[in-house]
Amino acid sequence: MKRMYCREIRESYVQEAEVAGWIHDIRNLGGIAFILLRDRTGILQLTLLKKPNKELFKHLTTLTRESVIRTKGKVQRSEKVMNGFEILPESAEVLSVAAVPLPLGVADKVESELDTRLDNRFLDLRKKEVRKIFYLRSLLLKSVRRTLENEEFIETHTPKIVAAATEGGTELFPFRYFEREAYLNQSPQLYKQILMSTGFDRVYEIGPAFRAEGHDTVRHLNEFTSIDIEMAFSNHHDVMDLLERVIVEGYETVRKEAPELMEGMNIPENVEAFPRITYTEALDIAKKKGLRIEWGEDLSMEALRLIAGESPDLYFITDWPDAIKPFYAMPGEDDRTCRSFDLMYREKEVTSGAQRVHDYELLKKRIADRGLDIEDFGFYLNAFKYGMPPHAGWGLGAERWVMTVAGLENIREAVLFPRDMHRLVP
Ligand code: ATP
Ligand code: MG
Repeated sequence: MKRMYCREIRESYVQEAEVAGWIHDIRNLGGIAFILLRDRTGILQLTLLKKPNKELFKHLTTLTRESVIRTKGKVQRSEKVMNGFEILPESAEVLSVAAVPLPLGVADKVESELDTRLDNRFLDLRKKEVRKIFYLRSLLLKSVRRTLENEEFIETHTPKIVAAATEGGTELFPFRYFEREAYLNQSPQLYKQILMSTGFDRVYEIGPAFRAEGHDTVRHLNEFTSIDIEMAFSNHHDVMDLLERVIVEGYETVRKEAPELMEGMNIPENVEAFPRITYTEALDIAKKKGLRIEWGEDLSMEALRLIAGESPDLYFITDWPDAIKPFYAMPGEDDRTCRSFDLMYREKEVTSGAQRVHDYELLKKRIADRGLDIEDFGFYLNAFKYGMPPHAGWGLGAERWVMTVAGLENIREAVLFPRDMHRLVP
């Protein structure tokens, strides 16, 4: 007999079925007992009568919560149970007995501290509302791949072990690489740009990025998943258009393919384009609301909250001061801005992108002007010397996106096994 999922029992009418899963709860009333069996699709009631099979009754009702069993029995329609169907077990096999007490309750309604939940993530992930986040994450990533593949992007993988910092800076994890020092890459930036000189034209990468952020916030991780694209013969507006399509398609995919995930999600209806306001305009909003901030300063959380108050959920802030954006951003028409943008969800940054500098001499000068060592960037600069088209791209943080869609307060909830300053296990 083929194992069926709990939900299939509800949906197709079979007389006999085999199901397997975790014991969610047991209610023993003496002559009759109810066992709630849980698998990835939901919960199914097993109804046991003591009379016909005393042995089986005792065997199953004395099991601990979260033990794993496989059972075969008659399927019976019942108005009283959750799914309209129950199983009357005729035989059962105990596959694994769960120890007591559980370090974290699965069936109980009580809210646990996030730290306790993360310490016992394997149990935490047995909860429906926690698993929902990862179904959402998987679906959004599937949608991103589909959208990009449809637009003729190819999937690439660039090294995570690198010799030079992407942007210089201190946010790097150094480690010993044989006799030398190496780093975990903080972004595929330099490599995806090198690929623009090869003619691949449109590339994407969904992979880990490592940042030694030395601060504890609810929106920073030390290892996160970055969705990166780079596109040749394009400017910043072209890649903002693409980002809109990627995000809107993501929402559509959830709406169409997983309506059961929609409840409680921040998925707006009928959005097509996100407004694009310049940094200068954004600054003016914050200033009008009484914030003292000078042109050229980075937008603080306080400023971003004020700006978000005057904007729809999703909006771009464009044309940033050149000095606070990386050297590879293309300078604007004036002498103080650059062609870079952030996509915001309310006050949170979800994506950064830009048209890039593709001129070798200008790039070299910008690296030097930032006090970085040209020698360190030789492997990168070389790709600009022998034919490099204009190009643009962005990096979308998968967890930031999931966090905004699922309305999570803490980014750690959007990762299976988060890495932060204090957490290296599990
Ligand atoms: P922030 O200002 O929010 O710290 P950033 O400007 O340093 O972010 P970028 O270098 O622009 O980040 O990275 C591109 C995207 O990667 C960000 O928009 C964000 O979605 C995501 N990201 C960056 N750093 C982190 C992090 N430490 N944890 C999770 N996601 C991150
Ligand atoms: Mg950024």
